[in-house]
Amino acid sequence: MNNPRPCYLQIAIDTPLNAVFDYRWQCDPAERPQVGQLALVSFARREVVGLIVGVVDETDVPVEKLKDALAVRTQLAPLSAQWLALAGFAADYYQRPLGEVALPGLPKNLRVLTTVALDRALKKLAKLETPHDPTPSNMPVLNPQQQLAADAIGGAQGFKPTLLYGVTGSGKTEVYLQACAQVLAREPDGQILILVPEINLTPQLEGNIRARFPGVMLATLHSSLSEGERMLHWLAAHQGKARIVLGTRLAILSSLPHLKLIVIDEEHDPSYKQQEGLRYSARDLAVWRAWQLQIPIVLGSATPSLESWHHAQSGRYRKLELRERAVQNAVLPTVKLIDMERDKPNDGLTSHLVAAIRQRLERGEQSLLFLNRRGYAPVICCESCGWISECTRCTSFMVLHRPEHRLRCHHCSLELRIPRHCPTCGNIDIQPLGRGTQRVEEGLQALFPDARILRIDADSTRKKGSAQEAFDTVHRGEVDILVGTQMVAKGHDFKRLTLVGIMNPDTALFSQDYRASERLFAQLMQVSGRAGRAGIPSEVLIQTRYPQHPLYGAVVHHDYDHFASALLEEREQAALPPYLFQALLRAEARELATAIEFLTMARDCMQHPGITINDPIPMTMTRVHNVDRAQLLVESPSRPALQAFLKEWMLTLREMKSRVKWSLEVDPLDI
Ligand code: ADP
Ligand code: ZN
Ligand code: ZN
Repeated sequence: MNNPRPCYLQIAIDTPLNAVFDYRWQCDPAERPQVGQLALVSFARREVVGLIVGVVDETDVPVEKLKDALAVRTQLAPLSAQWLALAGFAADYYQRPLGEVALPGLPKNLRVLTTVALDRALKKLAKLETPHDPTPSNMPVLNPQQQLAADAIGGAQGFKPTLLYGVTGSGKTEVYLQACAQVLAREPDGQILILVPEINLTPQLEGNIRARFPGVMLATLHSSLSEGERMLHWLAAHQGKARIVLGTRLAILSSLPHLKLIVIDEEHDPSYKQQEGLRYSARDLAVWRAWQLQIPIVLGSATPSLESWHHAQSGRYRKLELRERAVQNAVLPTVKLIDMERDKPNDGLTSHLVAAIRQRLERGEQSLLFLNRRGYAPVICCESCGWISECTRCTSFMVLHRPEHRLRCHHCSLELRIPRHCPTCGNIDIQPLGRGTQRVEEGLQALFPDARILRIDADSTRKKGSAQEAFDTVHRGEVDILVGTQMVAKGHDFKRLTLVGIMNPDTALFSQDYRASERLFAQLMQVSGRAGRAGIPSEVLIQTRYPQHPLYGAVVHHDYDHFASALLEEREQAALPPYLFQALLRAEARELATAIEFLTMARDCMQHPGITINDPIPMTMTRVHNVDRAQLLVESPSRPALQAFLKEWMLTLREMKSRVKWSLEVDPLDI
């Protein structure tokens, strides 16, 4: 070094302490670290990797308190100012320290003490040939509606949010791909980010993209990559080599220096919302990111979220429609309601549904039975004394998993052997109550011993790669009857499926959660949409005790428009989102009273004109894993007013230094 001089690095660290920390760094003035680089520092007696957000010549920190940074990761190009602004926005909006947002957004291998993994990935990537031919291959001819949409999206300049509202099977994927083709052809370095809600949907789309753009590097980012793979793919995006990045919600924080288009497939899907830690909405961040970069974004769905629909109605988003299915002769399935009061189910199946399945078996077509409840039975009980299998740690039941001979709590993962007799009265006749996918599978096997039945749910696909294997089996036509949870309801293009049976959706009709009907409707439309995609007439049978319910009427008529308009009107009258903005403060403690006490203090600690703070209440599922949980809902018709309040409120709450564990969620989905 010629003339080393200290400068001071302001470093964001992944810690709940809401601050950036200063470190000293000796270096040649010509080699000053840059904002956006990573640095290794010692913090709270540990060594951690932090993010440099400022490089300055002076600091207020007294000299005796200043530590030297240990290393700067110079081999990695700095994260761009735009990326920092995105992390900054997310931190600000969701009321978290920058470090808690920015650092977990990076691959783990960037945040470890050594650079071995980083160096290896850099080397590997340098050797990798980067193809650079964006010419698409095998482009099918679009129908006029698709063409219009693809041109509108692909040709858009500036910030243009588009809602692509297309019925299931209308060929939205093809619209995205052709819009991508236009952007790749026009922008020599341009990158595209495509988000899907479910990890299980990535292989299908990945295959489509690779086949369409053989000369373009594709990176994928989702939670089932190994850390090594994730590092490599993240770097490929960061270096601009990957022109298309396909991922689940976590990919929204990837570094994309030449981002020119964002695609959010199935934008209504609740999986875009992270439900722990930083509770962000990847869809909302994506819209912000598009605005920041002044680039087009397309939100696609057959059942848009009410938020997006509202924006489309008010003109903030442009709405493009695909009214018909894309494959020739493919039409939407006929939806019928089966009144379970008249056609009493046997083993959960009405005679109508059984007959329909039999017909499919005879014709060599596939059926899908949808039931959003895994396990064998949601509970077991003793008929003589009324004992039921409750979890000892949660406000919930122990679910019977018969193949595994276990009772399992789906909330705290407590596992028990199935008792031989009732733990309270000794009665040996304890029975499963209700049914889950395992029981349905068993019942079907008894009814149709020769049929090839496959169950797809979180239990059957625990092993890495097993979900993909299961879906492949369906695609190859090696399955006659598919039984599954929401895992099978979304996005999949099952060509031979001509019957969808929906077993018992009624429970969601009377939920206290005002979003339940929006969700149920979307789920029914989505799962129905798996049928009849290849032009064979198909039907959907919904078993219900409430065939008169308007929600089912809307599903029968495939009538999203009216249903959404009616819901929006209700929401407006009741002053609910999207006409109102909310945040939820949650508290957890050993005793419910302690949590409520904290929330009461939080409620009373600040003046708040224009903000409604409701009373603290226990959460619906109060106890999870021996911890009691309560919540406080904060509301305002003005987003800026709510944001301003939250900012100050958080400062006050952090000062309170309560021992209660608490967290804030902005724009909560589950209340
Ligand atoms: P969506 O995502 O809207 O439910 P997909 O994108 O999965 O629908 O498309 C449904 C099916 O239609 C796929 O099998 C796809 O290959 C096919 N498809 C899409 N566009 C066309 C087209 N223009 N001509 C023929 N088939 C098409
Ligand atoms: Zn008993
Ligand atoms: Zn439990």
